[in-house]
Amino acid sequence: MIGKKWPGTPLKASDLEEGTVATEEWRPEAKYAWSTGESMSRFLSELKEGRLVGRKCDDCGRVLFPPRSFCEECFVRTGEFVRLEDTGTVETYSISYLDTDARRIETPIYVAVISIDGAAEKMGLMHFLGEVQEADLSIGMKVQAVWKPQKEREGAVTDIRYFKPAGG
Ligand SMILES: [Zn+2]
Repeated sequence: MIGKKWPGTPLKASDLEEGTVATEEWRPEAKYAWSTGESMSRFLSELKEGRLVGRKCDDCGRVLFPPRSFCEECFVRTGEFVRLEDTGTVETYSISYLDTDARRIETPIYVAVISIDGAAEKMGLMHFLGEVQEADLSIGMKVQAVWKPQKEREGAVTDIRYFKPAGG
């Protein structure tokens, strides 16, 4: 028993809430900067220009997407950045009645894992599908990015509004 070895009065949450014990309040001045690293920085700045890039592993030849600084299969530093088309294939998708804040919604959103043309297999980008009817959704569907106007882009994956059926 704590009480016998270290005698005292245990605190309850209500003691803090009601102010029956001494408390101190302060707000930390926590200012910080976070670096995304070489590969992700390039990926984000290319998004702002409306372009997709991957990064090639000179050992296995795969184009990693989104670009990474190391190949997880070869354990080597990756090489050149490679410009990719903004088209791809739906690998899998989900019809969601929850929005991005997990609130229930009446009209579903379509979320897909999309493999980008020119990138190695199993390199999916998760994004929204748009300009498509639920009945027309399918795995293997060819899609194309719909970008925000240039002045609205900020170097984020949301610079792509969604992917729509290619050629549609
Ligand atoms: Zn490799």
